[in-house]
Order: sequence, then structure tokens, then C-alpha cells
Amino acid sequence: MTRRDPPLTPVVVAESVADLRSNVVRAHRGGQTIGFVPTMGALHAGHVSLIERARAECDVVVVSIFVNPTQFGPNEDFQRYPRPRELDLKICGDAGADIVFYPTVDDMYPPGYRTFVEVQGLSEILEGAIRPGHFRGVATVVTKLFLLVQADKAYFGQKDYQQQLLIRIMTRELNIPTEIVTCQTLRDPDGLAMSSRNAYLSSAERVQGLCLWRALDGVRKLIEAGERDLAKLQQSLVDVISAIDGVVIDYAVIVDAGTLASLTAAVPEMVALVAIRVGKTRLIDNLVLRLTDRAAG
Ligand code: AMP
Repeated sequence: MTRRDPPLTPVVVAESVADLRSNVVRAHRGGQTIGFVPTMGALHAGHVSLIERARAECDVVVVSIFVNPTQFGPNEDFQRYPRPRELDLKICGDAGADIVFYPTVDDMYPPGYRTFVEVQGLSEILEGAIRPGHFRGVATVVTKLFLLVQADKAYFGQKDYQQQLLIRIMTRELNIPTEIVTCQTLRDPDGLAMSSRNAYLSSAERVQGLCLWRALDGVRKLIEAGERDLAKLQQSLVDVISAIDGVVIDYAVIVDAGTLASLTAAVPEMVALVAIRVGKTRLIDNLVLRLTDRAAG
């Protein structure tokens, strides 16, 4: 019987740091490799694709579900962020996770907690400029989780492009021996990137949100057709989104894919990053733009 044959092995839920540690120690003693997927829960097919990739590449798969308060601003959706615990645990088990780490806020941040991790430069721009403190919270919780899980590989979505880049840099600079794997963005058939926050959208807002993918795909098509003028590419991104009434642009830019530095002319690897507000909901998306040698002229 293979690991995936029914009945599925029930997932072990580690409710505390101590619980998680004993499971991790057992896996390491047995010489097993560990794959780790950090999430905030409200799991969807995008998260499942990360868990399945970890399942395919590692002996033991750990998923964390933790709505991390330090990455939310005071006026953001920390309180109302969805927390469907039983459904999430079932999704983890069905996707092949072995252990779900489901800590409490007090366990991760005991009273008086005061240690934070900052990745300078990258934390303050784009998503970080709109959400001050967000990446400090992300870097801190991911460092803590990495130290706890001691994974061989950790899986992140390209959906949060700036986040995966920041985590790659942080992991390298802190000499954390975990390999970062970035997985492609899963989309609904109409192009909307899957996100736990899509649940907030009314059906009208969801239609408005489709402008993100339309704008990104439009830029991709322009590049395919030979357009290399960065200002024109950039303008098309903004035009497609601002044509939709009721959508507020936080940013819509084309930047260097490796550094997120702003550009004055097209370079071989760029990324288009877009963030909008539709009603009370923020949506982000991105697309890596590669100029092929043949087309680049
Ligand atoms: P979150 O629960 O939103 O913190 O996301 C947990 C992980 O899932 C992050 O690495 C995200 O980038 C990734 N993720 C979220 N949405 C998607 C998606 N649509 N496709 C692929 N990965 C995703």
C-alpha cells in the first residue's frame, strides 16, 4: 500500500511548540527529510499545490496554520480573517500532510515578546510601503517557524512575489539551511489568482478583480508582440486596471525580477506587480516577464 492509498493516514496536529519539536526530533532521528508549507489557513487549491509538491519531494510534510498577528496592520483584517479549522485539517490530510502545526498566538508570542527580524530595503517598498511592518512580521514568523521545523525544503507561492524574494534573501543571509522552493500561482479558470481573501468579494467585486489578470496578461501579449518600451508596457498595466470603476490602485509597476528595483528601460527578467483595492478587499497579483533573445532587439 502506498502512502496515498485510502484510508488516508490521519494528520497529526501539533498544538504547541513542544508538540511540534518532539515530532520534528523523531523525523530527524529517523533520517527523514522534512518539507514545510507555512500558511495562514483558509486553505484553497493554491495551498494544496504546495503541500502536494512537498509530499512528492520529501519524506515528512509539515504544514503550519497560523494567522500571524505581527504581519497585520492595526486597521487590517486580523480579527475577521477566516479560520475554518476542521476543514483545513481535512484538506491537509487529503493533500498528504503528515503534521499540521496549529499554535496559539501566546505560544508563538508569549507576553513580553520582543525579538524581530527585518530585511532592510526590500521590506519598505511596494507591499511594504502600503503595509508598514507587514514584512517585519512575515520575516519574524517565518524565521521562528524555520527554526522550529528545521525543514530541508520550504514551499512558497509566487502569488506573493515580494514575500518569496524576501524569504529567499533572509534565509541566505541568516544561513538557515532550508532550501526555498517557489511554486507557480494557481488561478481560477477566469484568471483570478486563488486567495483566502477572495472569500470576502461579492460577485460584482470578483468581476472587478479580474482586471488584475487582464492587465498582466495584456502586458505579456505586448511583449510577445515585440513591445520593449518600458513606459508603454507600464502604461498599459495601469490603463487596463484604471478602466474599471471602483477599483483603487495601490501600485501597478514593472520592476527588476531579482531586486524589485525600479527600471528606466526593459531588462531580460522583470516582474509586473499589481495591488488593488476593491471595496474593502485588497488583491495582489504578479507575472514574471522574460524577454527572449530573439524578441529582444
Ligand atoms: P497564506 O495562507 O495566504 O499566507 O499563503 C500561504 C502560502 O500559499 C504562501 O506561500 C502563498 O504564496 C501561497 N499561495 C497563496 N495563494 C496561492 C496561489 N493562488 N497559488 C500558489 N500559491 C499560493
